[in-house]
Amino acid sequence: MSAADASILAGLTDAQRQAVEHTEGPLLVLAAAGSGKTRVITRRVAHLVLGCGVPPWSILALTFTNKAAGEMRERIGVLLEGNERASRGLTVTTFHALCARLIRRYADRVDLGIPGDFTIYPSSDQVALVKRVIQALDMSTSNWSPRSVLSSISDAKNALMDAEAYNAQAGDYFAKQIGNIFTGYERAMREAGAVDFDDLLVLTAKMLRKHADIRRECTDRWRYLMIDEYQDTNHAQFVIASLLAGDVGMDAPEGNDQLGPNICVVGDPDQAIYGWRGADISNILDFEQQYPGAAVIPLGENFRSTAPILAAADTLIRKNQVRKHKDLFTSREGGEQVEAVLCRDERHEARLVADWLAERREESDLAWKDMAIFYRTNALSRVLEGELRDRSVPYIIARGTAFYEREEVRHALAYCRLLANNADDVSLERIVNMPARGLGKTSLEKVRVWAGDRRVQMFHALSRIGDVPGLTARASKASSAFVALFGAWSGEGTFMGAQVATTLADLVERVVKESGLERHYTDRAAVSKAESDAERVDNLGELISSAAEFEERYDPEADPALEGAGSNTPPMLALLRAWLESVALVADADEVDPEQGAVTLMTLHAAKGLEFPAVAMVGLEEGVLPHSRSHDSEAALEEERRLCFVGITRAMNRLIMTSSRYRTNRGMPERMVPSRFFDEIGSEHLAMSDQADDWADEGFEDERNEWDDPRAGQRSELPIGSLVRHPQFGVGEVLRVQAGKYGRATVRFEDVGVKTLILEYARLTVID
Ligand code: ATP
Ligand code: MG
Repeated sequence: MSAADASILAGLTDAQRQAVEHTEGPLLVLAAAGSGKTRVITRRVAHLVLGCGVPPWSILALTFTNKAAGEMRERIGVLLEGNERASRGLTVTTFHALCARLIRRYADRVDLGIPGDFTIYPSSDQVALVKRVIQALDMSTSNWSPRSVLSSISDAKNALMDAEAYNAQAGDYFAKQIGNIFTGYERAMREAGAVDFDDLLVLTAKMLRKHADIRRECTDRWRYLMIDEYQDTNHAQFVIASLLAGDVGMDAPEGNDQLGPNICVVGDPDQAIYGWRGADISNILDFEQQYPGAAVIPLGENFRSTAPILAAADTLIRKNQVRKHKDLFTSREGGEQVEAVLCRDERHEARLVADWLAERREESDLAWKDMAIFYRTNALSRVLEGELRDRSVPYIIARGTAFYEREEVRHALAYCRLLANNADDVSLERIVNMPARGLGKTSLEKVRVWAGDRRVQMFHALSRIGDVPGLTARASKASSAFVALFGAWSGEGTFMGAQVATTLADLVERVVKESGLERHYTDRAAVSKAESDAERVDNLGELISSAAEFEERYDPEADPALEGAGSNTPPMLALLRAWLESVALVADADEVDPEQGAVTLMTLHAAKGLEFPAVAMVGLEEGVLPHSRSHDSEAALEEERRLCFVGITRAMNRLIMTSSRYRTNRGMPERMVPSRFFDEIGSEHLAMSDQADDWADEGFEDERNEWDDPRAGQRSELPIGSLVRHPQFGVGEVLRVQAGKYGRATVRFEDVGVKTLILEYARLTVID
């Protein structure tokens, strides 16, 4: 044994070492969180190369996310350090990336119906395409909603059915019609030389099944196949893994009494969190049936977390009915209780979590990069980001950009910027055809030339579209409609006319809706089923909350833009501009110093497989975690419980879980109920504290009940608690009044909830 190999095997338990050294024949490592499954894979790769002399190019290691693949590559790199030749040709990647690569390589050799230089369509393009197909078939897109049709198509693909196979089994009228659309969609995709994400898996499975020569090339090359997080494979991935392993007779197993292929899968059914996207846990549970000679090695001991953290995780996961129990234990001594804190609202929660992280840093000498904050959906990150930024705590958002840099948020902000400033051509260019409204490249170029010749802004040109020559009737109509949107939002120049928004949040909400952005992303989300797409709609809602929150704190008297008695900027415009400026400052975040590291913010789904010394989990509330989606079924609830379990088991030394009594949703505070998972873990394993009341009323000190009424030229009184009537919102109770030239009142309306109104324009009448 070489010295290098000896050091690879050192520091492994007997069970881990057994798994690493079991290099020939199928192997299943079914083991609990933090027991060293990923370590087994990385060491096994290194052992194969350095200990067994296996050429690196004959090893294929697969996982699910780019981040996980990157981390695995890095860990293997460290083990093979100083041995550059040892890692040349090694393939460590994700299923989708591998499939894209295989299709590109073989597309010209076999007829897959697509060229080697295919494009991958994002879901928005899928929707547009399927819509065209439905219309071409003379069917109505309201009866056949593109998104639900695409969802059926995706399910079929996941079960490895193409349009032909789907049509062959379509029994009733409904299925037959879907089949027709499926056929048209498939043809149109092929004509465009495009594939969607499902296609990458489907085409690869089909190609490997049908073409023995390609299959042989793959199995000849990759003699050792390893798959991490195997509990989250779907049917298509299962078939691809089996074919790459050389299990040709999958449909009709051939009796072979040899060892069987060198496929090693590791996973933990308690961490299966992608059932909603078609992952099938039986792939891992039936592994022994599929490969009768398989070695099965459990790992046992957890090396990651303290005993109190494991006790909390174990108590929770035992509440799942459908599972096979595995003990979670550690030989580590001591450890702090898991903390559970009830907060007043999301701002309190953010402040508390930031305090907690700072304390951990002082107390245990941790760096920021040793800490993470997890949440169920991305929309929860915004308030946390604001708090961390205010305190100059460096943070990074894992996967995806910071809140204000997200595509959908940037689009919505571009509408607002153009509203605040018609001359903002950059914002105009960004959204003039987003969502698509028939203002294509050619038409825009004509508008651009016309505006350039006259040295006027694009918005001006669009509002005089009749003067621009050479445009189609469709483009002219689209421009007029576009300009009219802004007219409506600004109340034709007065901003505060009859039906215009009376709060900033209302204004932003109108922009999000009437621009068509919300619809665009709702459709897209339903089709792709990607977590990221589903959250774009939430993020637009969160942007509205951001406006509401800003308005709440905005002090017009301190606004430099409004200085001087002569200022005649309409208050709503001033408010909009002040908000946009504050947002721009956040987006312009300081760069993270790599030496110092940064706190990681991520969703629970993205946290799978990772670990951090200190972890905070926020939003432990019914409807958030467990997500409202879990109301559908017991199975969905069990998946939410596994998701919470995944979060808890990421923590090495310290864990805090928080819940807010109120959470702002679309600008309105909603009363929340703490997650049932707290009860299920139980007070025995949680250090519980209710701090909601300690925070109450903070930030309300400057409460005053009088305001300057510019119309009356005097100070008027509007006592807290008075009942008022608003022409649109109905009857409400005054919660708070802010003084100043542009005095504002916060009112809780019976029908529409809490709103902050600019008094000068709100036309409130006191009724009691
Ligand atoms: P998960 O289920 O969360 O994916 P896992 O089973 O893949 O977890 P690893 O990430 O491989 O677990 O290991 C968890 C932690 O325990 C890592 O920090 C790893 O380095 C450490 N570890 C694993 N085995 C040992 C060991 N034998 N001795 C010391 N530390 C170990
Ligand atoms: Mg792992």
